[in-house]
Order: sequence, then structure tokens, then C-alpha cells
Amino acid sequence: AAHGTAAPTTGRPHGARHTAETFAAVYGAAPSGTWAAPGRVNLIGEHTDYNDGFVMPLALPHTTLAAASARTDGVLRLHSGGADGGIVELCLDALRPAPQAGWAAYPAGVVWAMREAGLPVGGADLHFDSTVPTGAGLSSSAALEIATALALNDLYALGQEPQHLARLAQRAENAFVGVPCGIMDQTAAACCTQGHALFLDTRDLGRRQIPFDLAGEGLRLLVVDTRVKHELGDGAYAERRAGCERGARALGVRALRDVPYAQLPAALARLADEPAVQALVRHIVTENRRVEEVVAHLDAGRTRAIGPLLTAGHASLRDDFKISCRELDLAVDTANAAGALGARMTGGGFGGSAIVLVEEAAAPAVGAAVTAAFAAAGHAAPRIFEAVPGPGAHRVE
Ligand code: ADP
Ligand code: MG
Repeated sequence: AAHGTAAPTTGRPHGARHTAETFAAVYGAAPSGTWAAPGRVNLIGEHTDYNDGFVMPLALPHTTLAAASARTDGVLRLHSGGADGGIVELCLDALRPAPQAGWAAYPAGVVWAMREAGLPVGGADLHFDSTVPTGAGLSSSAALEIATALALNDLYALGQEPQHLARLAQRAENAFVGVPCGIMDQTAAACCTQGHALFLDTRDLGRRQIPFDLAGEGLRLLVVDTRVKHELGDGAYAERRAGCERGARALGVRALRDVPYAQLPAALARLADEPAVQALVRHIVTENRRVEEVVAHLDAGRTRAIGPLLTAGHASLRDDFKISCRELDLAVDTANAAGALGARMTGGGFGGSAIVLVEEAAAPAVGAAVTAAFAAAGHAAPRIFEAVPGPGAHRVE
């Protein structure tokens, strides 16, 4: 496996005033407004969002800020404190899907998707600052897209609902940037609310905000950013996706979401001559079940009971979906051995971040154990922080 170290967090001094001041320094005039969109962790429901299944993300306090003004000349200018290279200038009429176009493809793709959808969006100047670590499985790309979408929605009075902005942003990432992602990340950035996890049915986009007040219960959710990104991730994602579609076809269902948990043994028996597909199907069907169980526990106020489901989800991603890696396994195993209630990788896999549910009193010792285990194994120090469910995208100024 090729190794790469994830890019460090863009880590700019954060705050709307700083972002507005930087906008003014870059473009020579104050912005019309500033908008924020968060990164996310997914509590449970991994790789289910392209199988019409269930997911349960929560917004991080880490956000991407977009300061923006409209322009009347059909020009789009983009600048980011987290990217080298100065201002990117594009003509709206010349926007074409541009895989490999670099970071600017994400916001440009959103404008392109809006215009493709017939929305009357014109030119704009945008400057971004972000505290969402990039490439860490915390969805900095969706934060960038949704901050852009919300800014344009307001600047051009488009009147689009957050869920529709998420759809447009997903289309931008799929068709313009060229990343075949599901709808979870954009929906999380657009629709999460403070103090809640978002239970999302990715088939009909039915949503429910589930209260998730960890501090009130004496609990903590830690994020362990392993700071590695193994390069086989991109190809593996497409492969897993294709395998899931193959499984659905073989079982005669529209998507693996349609295989009820009670019929899993029969489904697996039908796939006996395709063990690789069998394992993918087992992960998706059991993972959807775990999401429903987590929802039931949270609805009943049994937050601690979700710990073993997180750990079972990790085992399924490691053994059946085969998208974990040494660093993620080490984070999860060490946290559990040090007394966590449960832990799992979150996001696409092959690096990125793990989440750890832990009693407040045990959090420092569990974090220290993970850090020590990484040092002992010769891995770069992980970045560990607490996830407190923050608000979804909103206008700041
Ligand atoms: P993730 O979404 O998990 O962070 P992705 O690979 O999907 O990882 O998206 C990361 C990419 O998004 C970066 O390589 C960069 O191109 C772009 N990006 C995200 N945030 C910013 C930002 N604030 N400024 C510039 N580019 C950004
Ligand atoms: Mg992303």
C-alpha cells in the first residue's frame, strides 16, 4: 500500500471577521456576507449511502467559511487560505466538468450544477477559510461545496432548501470534480443541527434529528485523525461500489437496502459462489441494521449501549468490507483496550479518522493510550479532538 500523509488542517485563524478582512485584502472591497458549513463525522452507517441505506452523521464544530459578493459580469473568482496559487478566475459560460482541476473544481462545480439545474446564478467573488482538516475523512470537500452553495443561494435569492443544495453539491462532486460519492456528506453539511445526530434514509432522503447530548450524560466522542491517507482508497471505493451493485443485481433487488436483515442468511447462500460479493452484502445489510439499533438505543436514552455497535461496525468494515488499515485498527483496538465504550473508523477508509465513545472521566487516559500506541508502532502522532455536535450550514454575517 502506498503511504501518504494527509494534508495538515488549513488551520487559519478562524472567525467571520478574519475571513471578511482577508476577502477585502484579496478583492479590494468588503464582502456582501459570510457563510459557514461544517465538517462531519459519521456515527454509524458506513458505505451505506450508495446502497440506498441509512447513515447517521453529526456536524463538527470545525467549519469552512465563505466570504462572498455577487458580480454582474459572469466571472467567478475563487481564493482559499488553505490553497496555494492565488485567485482562480473562471468564466461561467466556459465551465465544463474538470476532473484534475484542483481545489477550485469543488466550488466551480457547485456553480456549474446550479446553472445546469436552470437556477439564475451569476458571477461571484469567493474567499474561503477552513478549520476542517482536509483529506482526513471529515468531509472538508462537502463543507467547501455547501458553503459555496449557501452563499450563492442567498446572493442570488435562489430560495433552495438545504436538502436541494446538498443534491446540487453532490452532483458537482460526482459530475464536475469526478468523485463518485453518495449523498451523506453534503446532507450532513447542509442539514445537521446543533446537539443532534442526523438519521438519514438515503433512498427517500427522509430525515430525523436525534438528540445527542453526550456532555449531559457524562460521555465524550473523540475523533482520532490518523493523519494517513493510503492511496488505494480511490480505486477501492469504486470497486466496493461496483461489488455492491453486482450483489444487488444477483439478488434481484434495486439496492442492497432492500435485503431485509432477517433474509441475510438466504441472500448469502445465493451468493455462495461469489465470496467477495457475499462479504460486501453482509457488511451493508448488517450495517443498516446497526444504524436502526443505534437509533432505537438513542431514542430510549441508552446512549452507552451504542458502544458495542460502533465496535461491531468497525469489525465489519475491517473483515467484510476490507477498507480499514493498520493505523485505524490500532486506534480502535487501543481505545477499546483502554476502556472506551466502543470505537470505529469513520469515513471512506484506508486512513482518515476513527471515532471513540468514552466516559468523560476515561477520555484523557484513552486519548493518551492511543497516542502512546502510535508512537510505539512508529506512526506519526495522531490528532485527537472532541466531537461536539455543531450546527449545519448557516449565514454568519
Ligand atoms: P475530505 O472531504 O475527507 O476532507 P476529499 O479528498 O474529499 O477529503 O476533499 C479534500 C479536497 O477538498 C482537498 O484536497 C481540496 O482540493 C479541497 N478542499 C477542501 N477544503 C478546502 C479549502 N478550505 N480550501 C481549498 N481546498 C479545499
Ligand atoms: Mg470529501
